[in-house]
Amino acid sequence: MARYTGPACRLCRREGTKLFLKGTRCLTEKCAVERRPYPAGQHGNTMGRGRKQSEYAKQLREKQKVKRMYGLTETQFRNTYVKASTLPGVKGTNLLVALETRLDNIVYRMGFAASRRGARQLVRHGHVEVNGRKVDIPSFKVVPGMEVRVAPADREMTVVMASIEQASRGAPVSWLSIDSEKAAGRLLELPTRDGIPVNAQEQLIVELYSK
Ligand code: SF4
Repeated sequence: MARYTGPACRLCRREGTKLFLKGTRCLTEKCAVERRPYPAGQHGNTMGRGRKQSEYAKQLREKQKVKRMYGLTETQFRNTYVKASTLPGVKGTNLLVALETRLDNIVYRMGFAASRRGARQLVRHGHVEVNGRKVDIPSFKVVPGMEVRVAPADREMTVVMASIEQASRGAPVSWLSIDSEKAAGRLLELPTRDGIPVNAQEQLIVELYSK
């Protein structure tokens, strides 16, 4: 299935929560979820009112939420789950760790892009290096010890500088070391569930895919 390219805020409104798809706008009062916290469309305001959600519906919505948050297609998301579920440990946590260690997500977490969409574009356009070599594959798996940086010639790009400036006001995750001046950082270790700032019930996704 093709990647969704429609309005990002529509996805947040459908899931009823902020997915942080639009960078700085998500932190302002202009956020669509804050202004209209119900699904878009003619019947959005009355959708699901008074109706009890089935277990399947809950699992499906959770999967859609996380998939949309990380900007993956259904096939990419499912493949990520299948690989993660073969690893030792808790399947749901493994899934989140696999999503968090994608190159586009690491670029986003390091603050070099304001959103995961922006990070994916930065990677695709060849502005990102891993251990000093250009990598333009957003799904590239970053492993502990690897250095990720914006290519030195591209550090002064307005979009990168604005993102770093914005990110410096927030708290970085503990499993990354970041040198904002050099637009570079390193994955120190794989994150634990507590270290992943994502509001998700990943167990529901495991249940859905285990059927
Ligand atoms: Fe979602 Fe951001 Fe749009 Fe708010 S502004 S609805 S968080 S994409």
